[in-house]
Amino acid sequence: MRLANEGLDSDSVLTELSERIQGDLHFERGQILGSMCTIPDSVARDAYFAAFEKNVGDPGLFPETVALERETISIIAGLLGGGEEAAGAVLTGGTEANLQAMWSAKRRARPEQREVILPDSAHFSFDKAADIMDLKLIKIPVDGRYQMDVARAEAAINERTMAIVGVAGTTGLGLVDPIEQLSHIAVARGIYLHIDAAFGGFVLPFLADAGYPTRAFDFSLPGVSSITIDPHKMGRAAIPAGCLIYRNEELARYSETHVSYMAGGETNQRTITGTRSGASVAAVWAVLKHFGRSGYVRLVRQAMELTYWLRGRLEQIPGVTLVCEPLTNVLGVKVERRDLFKIATELRAHHFAVSFFEGYLRIVVMPHLTGELLAPFLRELEQMVGH
Ligand code: PLP
Repeated sequence: MRLANEGLDSDSVLTELSERIQGDLHFERGQILGSMCTIPDSVARDAYFAAFEKNVGDPGLFPETVALERETISIIAGLLGGGEEAAGAVLTGGTEANLQAMWSAKRRARPEQREVILPDSAHFSFDKAADIMDLKLIKIPVDGRYQMDVARAEAAINERTMAIVGVAGTTGLGLVDPIEQLSHIAVARGIYLHIDAAFGGFVLPFLADAGYPTRAFDFSLPGVSSITIDPHKMGRAAIPAGCLIYRNEELARYSETHVSYMAGGETNQRTITGTRSGASVAAVWAVLKHFGRSGYVRLVRQAMELTYWLRGRLEQIPGVTLVCEPLTNVLGVKVERRDLFKIATELRAHHFAVSFFEGYLRIVVMPHLTGELLAPFLRELEQMVGH
């Protein structure tokens, strides 16, 4: 398609737009069961549009929006056990945050240190980072509990090690690596330890208050250098919003680039991207203010209750079992003697989008789901598995 010579009036454009996006799958219809995103809270939408034109990449022009970002980072750092000296930025998501963490670790390391030790359950954003920055990934198998095998990770450390990565809320199963042990190792060996809590960051800090067991993963562990956390997943902010939080200013400065020509004055930019969405910042700030701690505890409690309800219903279907006990609101579902890829494809044809992983299907029990919305999916699955 080419750019038309004459433009259309905005009403016609918007009518066409709303008709066309009707054809997408919809969160509110219970069609999206395998995504870590959800419907942003309405306060996020309103805040996003209130700050629509702001660019925090040129801080001198938008000092108030930049102050909102600082406040946002300070609140999130506090949630993650960080202190006053923590620093960071609102980015586009977990991928960019992981990329930036690896960039900071690279700049901190000696030139011969280019190896990253991470579990083989880590998100594919680390493969992208490795390709872009010419890093070597040392993938450590997960153990019988689907967590990084720490003994093997420790054995892989050598003089070329640049960083260790642990995951808090794995993409496939929502589980947490033994980060306490990784922290001990990082302290003892002076290695950069990055935690990918893109998903778990807005779940794990609230689990205990919601009445569920949790795991240590954050800056309360002295070896943790930086953490990825995505408000556009369980934080209920608007897409795009992922944050990278550093333990302190010193670590945050490794990714600095001096820029002299900005309209708002010279600046030291610490992010990969230049122009950055102030709208995303406003939306994250707004959800944090709106939910407060108790709001997120409620959100997580509801998600966990529904996760356990769904687990019970799934296990009543003959041949269906779970990969493991859920820790967060993610279920790995196995179906005996059935082609899981085929089941996922057939479910999608019926407008139930689940994720297919090697050996299991993933359901992420996000806040847009309810028992009522899940009932037709359960009926469909039961019918498919029964035939
Ligand atoms: N890290 C983890 C653990 C994830 O599960 C994901 C996405 O699901 C990411 C990083 C990447 O996040 P994004 O898609 O926002 O870039």
